[in-house]
Amino acid sequence: MSVRAGRRGPGRRLRRSVVAPQSGALREAGPAQARPRADPARRTADLPHLAAPHDGVPARGSRRGRRRELTMADSPRQQCLADGRIDPEDLDLLDSVARYARFFLETPRPVRPRDPDRLAALLGGELPGEGNGEHATLRRLVEAGESGLLPSGDSRSFGYVVGGALPIGIASDWLVSLWDQCAAVYETSPLASVAEQVCERWLVDLFGLPTGTVMGLTSGCTTANLACLAAAREHQLHAAGWNVNEQGMRLSPPVTVLTGEHTHVSGLRCLRLLGLGDQVAQVDAGTDGRMDPRHLAELAARAPGGLIVCGQVGSTDCGSVDPLTEIADITHDHGGWLHLDAACGMWAAASPVLRPALEGLERADSWSCDGHKWLNTPYDCGIALCARPEPFVDAVRFDADYLQTAERTGRDPMDHRVEISQRARALTLWAILHHEGREGIARIVERNCSAARELGSLLAREPGVELLAPVTLNQVLLHIGGEDRTQRVVDTLNSAGTCWVTPTTWNGRPAVRISVSNWQTGRESADATADAFLSAYREHGEPGTSASRPPADKR
Ligand SMILES: *Cc1c(COP(=O)(O)O)cnc(C)c1O
Repeated sequence: MSVRAGRRGPGRRLRRSVVAPQSGALREAGPAQARPRADPARRTADLPHLAAPHDGVPARGSRRGRRRELTMADSPRQQCLADGRIDPEDLDLLDSVARYARFFLETPRPVRPRDPDRLAALLGGELPGEGNGEHATLRRLVEAGESGLLPSGDSRSFGYVVGGALPIGIASDWLVSLWDQCAAVYETSPLASVAEQVCERWLVDLFGLPTGTVMGLTSGCTTANLACLAAAREHQLHAAGWNVNEQGMRLSPPVTVLTGEHTHVSGLRCLRLLGLGDQVAQVDAGTDGRMDPRHLAELAARAPGGLIVCGQVGSTDCGSVDPLTEIADITHDHGGWLHLDAACGMWAAASPVLRPALEGLERADSWSCDGHKWLNTPYDCGIALCARPEPFVDAVRFDADYLQTAERTGRDPMDHRVEISQRARALTLWAILHHEGREGIARIVERNCSAARELGSLLAREPGVELLAPVTLNQVLLHIGGEDRTQRVVDTLNSAGTCWVTPTTWNGRPAVRISVSNWQTGRESADATADAFLSAYREHGEPGTSASRPPADKR
């Protein structure tokens, strides 16, 4: 394994002596400084923050202009490298991004990509031989972003389950990049290791999980599922006298995995990767999306070998929560391991008002969830939690000489997940938990859930609109007609840019999902969204019917 360490040696010496430059690109920039019109990549009239006039087109006689005429080989950067300094122009970039960030967050924009067709032109072309200037590169990237990014951090962004990014999360994430810690082992970043341990303690407390539960931070809920399910497999096979790490899966004793009918593909993907793909059976769900405990009990009684049950807390389509107490009883009665995919729903445990919907949560053996969905950390942050530290660590730990012989200094984050090197995402998580506290997180989830309930009830009043499942948490699932109409309504809403929603199919019926998971979304956004939704819905009547426009008093 390779662990990068001490990579920033020369930079470390510099940090103190670096003074924020006063001549940053953006300071010089102004809307008055026109750029050539012919180049589509240069249409930056709405991005004054990044319009550095010296980029690409050298301003004659200026220092920067002169610099552009040099090749990288004899550039000032080479001189800086030789002197062990950072080129001050590289530092200007950071100011530019900070200024752009302010502009980006303060400027209202439609919730849709503005001009995705320009993307290929802006990002494409051949790999440059001699590279481009740093400001030109950054500006090109921002222009591409402004053309093709989906403003998923908007309060009216309801597609998939995306969430936004709290400002404290963005700022602390910048520090994560700035510090560039390799959060693999304690030695490569004591900071990340300690922050992760604190987050573990705080989250175990926040979610009300058993004392001794351990946590690993991952790139997302999928890799968190992988770590947890690997632990489940390890534990169940170990109980059958099989050491999966040494003996593999080819001749292993059987393990049965039972998942709910509406389980997310993420868990199934992990089960396949773990060699359990052919040992999965599906448990029926009720119309409300929740796993049917009677069917679970039936299947568990017949299951050959060890048992793993995968439940859900906040299903993707309708936000349903499985009957956790019942499925924990059944699973454990059969000596099974209960894993809960709580990608989004876990955070509801922070709220005393919502917690009852998650009754029995603490009874599971492992849990996976995402910071980048409902907690609104910037991408990416997954969280794996396991009440049984031994199989959790055994499943991923490997023997490396240095691990056995080195004096262990502190906890190695990589012992609790699949990934080895990764960014110090514990710092962002720590910052959000520290900033929001228990109450702040509860307020976010309660606000979102109340917006979802409001939306659900405003929309379901409309003739022809049907709520397909109760609004348990922050998901609204609606049937609004046939596939065609559903798609047209979704397209109209999304192309208008007033909000972003995504379609699905629920028990064979076309549906629209509205996932309320942005920290800014409250009831006000719900009202505006309901208006937009209803006018798109009324605009697209079912073909062949005239009932698409309800009488005025129904509106
Ligand atoms: C989003 C989601 C996942 C996958 O999480 P990633 O962070 O995208 O890997 C798994 N399960 C559920 C229920 C989800 O909503």
